[in-house]
Amino acid sequence: MRVGIPCQAPGHALAAATPRTVARIIRLGYDVAVERGVGEAARFPDSDYEEAGALLIDRAGAWGADVVVSTGAPGTAELDLMRPGATLISRLGPARSPELLDELRRRGLTALAIDTVPRISRAQAMDVLSSQANLAGYRAVIEAASRFGRLLGGQVTAAGKFPPATVYVIGAGVAGLAAIGTAHSLGAVVRGTDVRPEVADQVRSVGAEFVPVPTAQEVSSDGYAKEMSSDQAALARSLYARESAGADIVITTANIPGRRSPILLDRAAVEAMRPGSVIVDMAAANGGNTELTVPGETITTPGGVAIIGATDLAERLPAQASQLYGQNIVNLLALMTPAKDGFLSLDLDDEVVRGITVCADGELMWPPPPISVS
Ligand code: NAD
Repeated sequence: MRVGIPCQAPGHALAAATPRTVARIIRLGYDVAVERGVGEAARFPDSDYEEAGALLIDRAGAWGADVVVSTGAPGTAELDLMRPGATLISRLGPARSPELLDELRRRGLTALAIDTVPRISRAQAMDVLSSQANLAGYRAVIEAASRFGRLLGGQVTAAGKFPPATVYVIGAGVAGLAAIGTAHSLGAVVRGTDVRPEVADQVRSVGAEFVPVPTAQEVSSDGYAKEMSSDQAALARSLYARESAGADIVITTANIPGRRSPILLDRAAVEAMRPGSVIVDMAAANGGNTELTVPGETITTPGGVAIIGATDLAERLPAQASQLYGQNIVNLLALMTPAKDGFLSLDLDDEVVRGITVCADGELMWPPPPISVS
């Protein structure tokens, strides 16, 4: 079978394969065809893909392959280039995209949403949300530090001394822990909160003090946080406001899958922060964790607080983001190509494969049956 790797829409830096991952896909028995310029934004030249064994091809050729690997939901123009019976592997956001699912079904396609890999240990190697969130957490601190414009670490010099900056991270999942570790390594004093009290040790292990919410919520059986009751949420919000008022940098990472992200800092909480302080809202793509976040933009409030609503933090490290995304894809293809013969087998009895299959030969398969975390 041929695997096609098309370029992204203009302005997107993430490539679904790098020269290294192309070579690994070929070792699984596939032919690989990449659209010319696929790695340009991530600084992988076409010649490196060619050297790794890929055929350089035009856009129609890449979208016309047996298996198309992409990084985002296709539009009608791209779907028009796909052949009935072909398989699409990409981030598809199926919970928020009923029209796309309908199109995939109507066109007789098979579609695997790599952003819905179940949270079980054996699926970790295929989890693009985690691999990208880890990079994004690092980059959030870099963006915050740049905007803050002051040292994060304290210094004592002959000319005077500065205290370290204080950083508060809300949500200690993959992104939050990466942000805590990065801020700590730059010398900041870091505090971190999560509604899941069991992450306290992880928060401490990467260098922050754990600040528990007054009443912690339960975690649902799939490993995701659940929405809080209104009393719990009010208690938590007053903690977040108090902590943020004392911080130079606040990084929010709270997401509830398939839903709008919860508001953790309302207008009053942001206004209570010091002038010059910075918030990075890592939930901006899902609506944001502050009342004032503008997704995709950085704004400054009248009180002088900057809110960074960037939705492309991982893509600002495009070479590594592409390498990790590409390796997640290789790991999935390896699972689905047990004989290494270049033929993709859709084993719906495998809970990882079933969890990501949103459409199979034109039959709607979303949502998958629930599974428990291991
Ligand atoms: P996420 O992006 O869904 O959420 C980020 C964090 O925000 C979570 O820790 C969540 O508890 C927290 N949060 C949600 N609402 C909040 C609120 N109102 N206030 C404060 N915090 C709030 O989570 P994630 O980073 O993808 O991962 C969460 C957990 O799942 C982690 O422990 C991670 O290690 C685990 N995980 C496991 C696998 C796997 O085993 N394959 C894959 C991914 C994640």
